Amino acid sequence: MDIAANLTALRDRIAAACARAGRDPASVTLMAVSKNQPPEAVRAALDAGLTCFGENRVQEAKAKIPLCPGRARWQMIGHLQSNKCRDAVALFELIQSVDSLALAQELNRQCEKAAKTMPMLLEVNVAGEASKFGYRPAALLADFPALSRLPRLEIHGLMTIAPYTPAPERARPVFRRLRELKAECEQLLGAPLPQLSMGMSGDFEVAVEEGATLVRIGTALFGPRPAKVEPAAD
Ligand SMILES: *Cc1c(COP(=O)(O)O)cnc(C)c1O
Repeated sequence: MDIAANLTALRDRIAAACARAGRDPASVTLMAVSKNQPPEAVRAALDAGLTCFGENRVQEAKAKIPLCPGRARWQMIGHLQSNKCRDAVALFELIQSVDSLALAQELNRQCEKAAKTMPMLLEVNVAGEASKFGYRPAALLADFPALSRLPRLEIHGLMTIAPYTPAPERARPVFRRLRELKAECEQLLGAPLPQLSMGMSGDFEVAVEEGATLVRIGTALFGPRPAKVEPAAD
């Protein structure tokens, strides 16, 4: 798998989507989603120039991060359970998958203990899929004032996973709705929220056209995901 060549192609496609939307390509961060990938893949992505990595399981991240070069930056993008909050606070520089007030309160408590502040995104289940985690839009707006008052958490924006579709254009209303929800949250907060994490390998161009500031790319960068992480060769 030629990660550098994949990255060049991805950057071209992001730049083209930005051009269509009149955006600066520098306003879009490409996150490498390294779940199920071994440390060698993370090293190859770092060598190709990427520094932002996403993991979806705390246990896997806890084993992998110490085996990767220290200049890699790590964000949590998967569903987080309360009993993993302590590890998550230690491992990640940002948590993208906050989806309830109870979880946010537990993160806040663990941040207090660790004397830290944690940036986070609120995950929204825009399409209301039963199989997915994330706030329903109405619940997000209802909880938002309480979330914004937690002293150890900083809300940086919203995240969503669009329903899978072979026709990415169909994801557009979901991305557009997330952008509108961000504006509604900004009204409640009285301050701007800089981040919209949306778009994956199959639909990132549409997400960029709709305002994504961070796209989460796994298979289009690394190739097909191994079923699980193999131990490091060395
Ligand atoms: C796996 C995953 C991705 C990346 O998916 P690809 O389709 O491989 O790009 C992005 N976001 C989340 C939350 C994921 O779990």
